[in-house]
Amino acid sequence: MILDPDLIQFTTQFLEKNGALVDAHPDHIHALLPGHLADSLNLPEETRLGSNEHPLLYGSPVLDRLVHAATSRIPVTYGTLSIPYIKKAGFDAAIAQDLSFINAKCEVGVRAETRTSYMIITCSYVALSDERKEGLTRLTFHEPSGAVVEDFEDTVTDFECSYYRKGNLPPQFSTRIGLTLQKALKSIHHSIEQDLAPFIASMRRRLHRDVLNTREYYQSLADEMRASLAHPNLSDTQRMERQEKIDGLQAEADRKISDLQHKYDTRIHVRVCAGERYLVDVAQLIVTILYRKARRTLPVFYNPVTRRIDPLVCEICGKTMRRIFLQDGKTGVVLTCPECSRNR
Ligand SMILES: [Zn+2]
Repeated sequence: MILDPDLIQFTTQFLEKNGALVDAHPDHIHALLPGHLADSLNLPEETRLGSNEHPLLYGSPVLDRLVHAATSRIPVTYGTLSIPYIKKAGFDAAIAQDLSFINAKCEVGVRAETRTSYMIITCSYVALSDERKEGLTRLTFHEPSGAVVEDFEDTVTDFECSYYRKGNLPPQFSTRIGLTLQKALKSIHHSIEQDLAPFIASMRRRLHRDVLNTREYYQSLADEMRASLAHPNLSDTQRMERQEKIDGLQAEADRKISDLQHKYDTRIHVRVCAGERYLVDVAQLIVTILYRKARRTLPVFYNPVTRRIDPLVCEICGKTMRRIFLQDGKTGVVLTCPECSRNR
């Protein structure tokens, strides 16, 4: 089975950084792990990830342990935000503004004040190609769902926060956040790719230009040499040698082009630098979705930090969404993003 390229990259980088020898393929990763790493990941020293024995999928135990090991040494702060006022009315308008149920109707039911948790992750990245580009990215995730909550990281500083010491954390900070972190890493990679899109596009343009120049150069060289074959003073041997050179030009051009492709290839390294986890009092609304003859209730949150309804998460691919489609699944009605709705 072909593995998710993000998982291959993450796993390879993490294992190599910790002293492993890694041979990555599209459908499995073959790794030789140093003893301490094998012990901490509960894997044999020679291991094949992506096999039936050690599947490398979102939610798989091996990935859980890898994510835990990769994030356990990252500094994390914990706090509760003081929310002076929690919205009490006007939720119909808020939902209509922030969530679009494209093929279903939505009714707002009971409202309750509750406490939920958000995590801000800060990552640095380096993209290496013919040039180097560095950057920082900061994203916020709603911990229970893994949804990306836009702008939270910018507005959170408007609120007072009481911080906790480690060892004295309230139980509302769940320790079972492996799945959220996996979704978060995927979203972070996606966000970094968007940040880097202009850089990657400029490397592609340069590659395209250099490849064209190389082709033109070798074409005119071949034309020139072919024309010189007609020279009356050439001996048969010289003519044969020149012909051989002409015949070899295409292979030489192909080699040069492959070097260029390697030179402009972009490799991206991502490092998680810090985590901030916040408990926040929010308004929770139970909404009822009416889709054909089915009804489904689900909680949505009005977030007092962003002053918006938090987005939802596609129940097929895990992507954050504000445009929501409904469709029939095996065990009932499923919420999906526009892409998954098209691909079903
Ligand atoms: Zn989806």
